[in-house]
Amino acid sequence: MSNSPSRIGTVYLVGAGPGDPDLLTLRAARLVMNARVLVHDGLVDPAILAMAPQGCRMISVAKQRSRHTMRQEEINALLVREALAGNDVVRLKGGDPFVFGRGGEEAEECIAAGVPVEVVPGISAAMGAAASAMIPLTHRENASIVSFVAGQCKGLSDQNWAGLAGFGRTLVIYMGVATAEAIAEKLMADGLSPEMPVAVIENASRPQMRVLRGQLAALGAVVARNKVSSPALIVIGEVAGRGDMMELNKVLEAVR
Ligand code: SAH
Repeated sequence: MSNSPSRIGTVYLVGAGPGDPDLLTLRAARLVMNARVLVHDGLVDPAILAMAPQGCRMISVAKQRSRHTMRQEEINALLVREALAGNDVVRLKGGDPFVFGRGGEEAEECIAAGVPVEVVPGISAAMGAAASAMIPLTHRENASIVSFVAGQCKGLSDQNWAGLAGFGRTLVIYMGVATAEAIAEKLMADGLSPEMPVAVIENASRPQMRVLRGQLAALGAVVARNKVSSPALIVIGEVAGRGDMMELNKVLEAVR
């Protein structure tokens, strides 16, 4: 851990899970608790950041002075610079680093600069949300395929969504709150039933979690009426409407 000039630090790309610190892997927890330099996104829960030791240098790349997210190239450069200066860097990301986390870009940049990288997987929001909302992503009666899709993409219409949802399939949409209505319209135009069950899970695994359920045709309205805000995940498919699970959930909520 010493800072000799010849030493190159390691960059650890660490998944912080969906929020609840109990959902960290042991390896992630150990790295956070021993971090000297920790670089984190806005999605990482404050309770997890609080696990870092005193004296740890915490660098947020979420909101800088001008309230803008640091550009990805600047983040890459920061990680490389710290490692070349001899520091091990814990780069903490919400969920899993390799699921919509730009972990691939950061790893590639480090490798190109000769900086060793290790990836510590995390519980991605889909798994966290499924568990907290009691929605099995696969089920022998309803779904044998699961797709993870980013809803926020320039030129949504350029993407081919046909076949991602429907019979036997579960579609999980990350970053889809703002475009929920457009996504629903597109899926219905592609032939998906307007009655297909949907669930919106906001702040999965956190104390303020909300789970909203409805049908595809009402997805935009559900999001708007309830003022759903980020982070939230959308699940589209029969699994979102399994009555027995919903009943079970009610029972669980009643005893909580
Ligand atoms: N790497 C992360 C995803 C980052 S993209 C992962 O594997 O989970 C950011 C999106 O993830 C958010 O817009 C939201 O759709 C989803 N997300 C992250 N945390 C969430 C949470 N606690 N509850 C619901 N959705 C979440």
